[in-house]
Amino acid sequence: LDYRSISENVVFKSHNAFNRKAALPVGAIQTIEKLYAKRKEISSVLNSKRHAQSQIGSRIQRARKEKDATAKQVALEEAKALKAWVGELEEQLVQIGNQLYDLASSIPNDTHPDVPIGPENDAVTLSTHGPPPLPATPLRDHVTIGKALGLFDLEAGSQVTGSSWYYLTNEGALLEMALTNFALSIALKHGFSPVITPDVVRTDIARRCGFQPRDHLASQSYHVSTVSPTTPSSSESLTHAHLDLILSGTAEIPLAGLFANKIIPSATLPKKIIGYGRAFRAEAGARGSDTRGLYRVHQFTKIELFVVSKEEESEAMMEEMRKIQVEIFEGLGLSFRVLDMPSEELGASAYRKYDMEAWMPGRGGWGEISSTSNCTDYQSRRLHIRYRKSEADHVPLQSGSGPLAFAHTLNGTAAAVPRLIVALLENGVRFNESGSVVGLDLPSVLRQFWVGDH
Ligand code: AMP
Repeated sequence: LDYRSISENVVFKSHNAFNRKAALPVGAIQTIEKLYAKRKEISSVLNSKRHAQSQIGSRIQRARKEKDATAKQVALEEAKALKAWVGELEEQLVQIGNQLYDLASSIPNDTHPDVPIGPENDAVTLSTHGPPPLPATPLRDHVTIGKALGLFDLEAGSQVTGSSWYYLTNEGALLEMALTNFALSIALKHGFSPVITPDVVRTDIARRCGFQPRDHLASQSYHVSTVSPTTPSSSESLTHAHLDLILSGTAEIPLAGLFANKIIPSATLPKKIIGYGRAFRAEAGARGSDTRGLYRVHQFTKIELFVVSKEEESEAMMEEMRKIQVEIFEGLGLSFRVLDMPSEELGASAYRKYDMEAWMPGRGGWGEISSTSNCTDYQSRRLHIRYRKSEADHVPLQSGSGPLAFAHTLNGTAAAVPRLIVALLENGVRFNESGSVVGLDLPSVLRQFWVGDH
């Protein structure tokens, strides 16, 4: 973590954390400044002690050669004292390092200068797409439509697991498959490589991606296990490893983890991945209409765009991801808008965040269907994702000579399936003359991805 930058920009970092309503330990930034200065001081004393240690061996040898017992004794005692001193200073450095790491981990990413400052309703609409929104009416409620057409079974989900768990049934199940393959196909067309992720991840990897207790870890994650593996693996060389596991809230976590501890040849950047994963959310505190039907559920299939780029490319990559998402949602015929999210909505890791919201006439409002974040070097510093700067572009991986830089990471939703189903049902439902639900008009782009009769 960049303790130096934090120490040299205390006012800026404090202001930034305030604008983002980040939950920092009291005086965290000032404490980092002090600890960083102390660490420098101790390191310099330690270096001088180590230098003295390196000299003392030859003094002992000389005394031995000259058979000078007193000089030898003095040198031996000095060596013993130095050893204890060095041990003590090293221990102090480890402790300061741990404190620095813990405090600096709580500090959010910097904020893009164009980000609106404030809470959710300060979001700025960047663009709107698709047909004009249909009039809001409870007749278009996705729960009623899904039940009438046999597309999902909420009662069975509730009985087998609990409320906000569900089965997708019949065409509902096929719709999920068609949606995921449609989103995948658009991303593949734009040069993204497909990856199916593990959905269980180490808590520590999630933390390094910026999911602090305030976001997902404390109450929003399902914890799987606290059993430590018996054989240490390479990722345990990361300091502060927590060995417990969570069900991943988003494929962003295993996708970022895929690049942990790697030095990526810069000629291969940007790395563009389209991940397929199941997202698990405890959604503690969620209440009201959001928890009806499929809108806010505990498990869902999510197709995730993930990019690792050079630092100077990440803003352009964010725009590229936005275009891909627009292509997907326009392809689905949705009425939607793109929002530049304000500072209090950025979480810990995002430098900038675009949300997309689709019109859901049955719910009577806009519903978030996608979220895209440029995390700049926030995750890569914590996961040690680096690349060699330009002059080494042509040099093979290990032998590179150029300076190392932290990569930038970006993530964005290509398809969060249940939300898309809500939007498609509420906009595409067909009624008969007496107002009963008789069918659903689905976008024609899904036809080629539909398994079975359509
Ligand atoms: P997030 O990673 O929280 O930004 O979520 C990414 C996208 O997943 C959101 O834009 C929503 O479309 C969708 N989403 C988030 N939480 C849920 C949930 N509990 N149930 C269904 N979809 C969700």
